[in-house]
Amino acid sequence: MSDQITLDGYKELVKKHLDILTPIFAKASIGDFTSTLEIPDDSEEFVQLYAGIQIMLEVIRDQLAQLNRENQIKTEFLMLAAHQLRTPLTTMRWNIEAILASKQGLVSDELRRNMERLHSGNLKMINLINDLLNITRIEEQKHEEQFRVVDPVETINQIIKEQDPLIKRKKISVKVLPENTTMPKVMTSPKYFYETVLNLLVNAVKYNKPNGQVIIKIEERALRLLITVQDTGIGIPDNEKDRIFTQFFRGQKATQQEAEGTGLGLFLVKSFIDRFGGKIWFESKEGVGSTFFVDLPIIAKPQEISETLDK
Ligand code: ADP
Repeated sequence: MSDQITLDGYKELVKKHLDILTPIFAKASIGDFTSTLEIPDDSEEFVQLYAGIQIMLEVIRDQLAQLNRENQIKTEFLMLAAHQLRTPLTTMRWNIEAILASKQGLVSDELRRNMERLHSGNLKMINLINDLLNITRIEEQKHEEQFRVVDPVETINQIIKEQDPLIKRKKISVKVLPENTTMPKVMTSPKYFYETVLNLLVNAVKYNKPNGQVIIKIEERALRLLITVQDTGIGIPDNEKDRIFTQFFRGQKATQQEAEGTGLGLFLVKSFIDRFGGKIWFESKEGVGSTFFVDLPIIAKPQEISETLDK
C-alpha cells in the first residue's frame, strides 16, 4: 500500500473492492463458481487477495468438473448395465410366457406353478430395471419423450383394464367418476401420463384392504385437469408423510402388507409431474385411506418445449 494514502482514501478503496467481491461471494454461496476476477492495479495487498480468490475459484471449478465427469461415467455405466440386463430378461419373459400359454396337458401342473413363480420374479426384475433407467434419465435430464394429445379418460380406462388381474386378486372395486364422461384432452407426454396414473392406481390397490374401494375422479378446472385417486386402504402414518416422494422410501406397514416394491414409483411420478408444470400432493389417515391429487395444466409442456412455444 502506498504510504501517502489517507484513512478516508483507504476506506474508499476497501468499499470499492467490497463492491466487486461481494457479488462473487454471493454467487459462490449458492454453488456458482463461474465468476472471473480482473486483478486490480491499485495496491499490492489487493493484487494478492484477488490472485488468491482467483486461484481458489479455479481449483473449485476444476474439482467440480472432475466430479461431474465421474458422475457421468457412473450414470452411463448404470444405464448400460441396466440395458444389457433388460435384453436377456425380456427374452426369458417371452419364453416363459410361451410355455405358460401352451395347451393344457402339455405342461404338468407342478411345472406350470414353478413357471408362474419364475414369471413373477422375472417381471419384478424387469420393472426394477425400468425404474432404474427412468431415474438415470431424469437425473441426466435426457427427456426425449414425445409431446402429444392424450385422452385422460381413455388412458385411465385402459390402465384399469390392464390391471384387472391385480384388482381381482386383491378383491378391490375400482370406479371412475363422473361415469361415461369425456374430458378435454391434455397435451403432454403419453408415456409419463400413463406411468403417473398407473403408479397411483397400483398403489391404491396394493395398499388397500380386502373388499376395499378405489375411486378415480377427473375434473376440469380453469385450463387444468385435477385427477384424484382415493382409496380405503391402510393410509399413511403422520411420521412417514414427508418421505413419501423420496427415492427408495417404503412405509413400514406398507412393506409388511406388500413385501415387493422399490420405493421408486412416487419419486418418479413427482419428477414427471414437476417437469410438466403440474402439482402432486396427498391427504391420508392411517387405517382409513389415502387420496392422491394430481393437478396438471391442459397444455402440460415440458420445460424446454415450453420455452420454444412461448417465444
Ligand atoms: P412402492 O409402492 O414400491 O413401495 P412408491 O414410491 O409407489 O413405492 O410408494 C412409496 C411408499 O408410499 C409406499 O411404500 C407406501 O408406504 C406409501 N404409499 C404410496 N401410496 C400409498 C397408498 N395409496 N396408501 C398407503 N400408502 C401408500
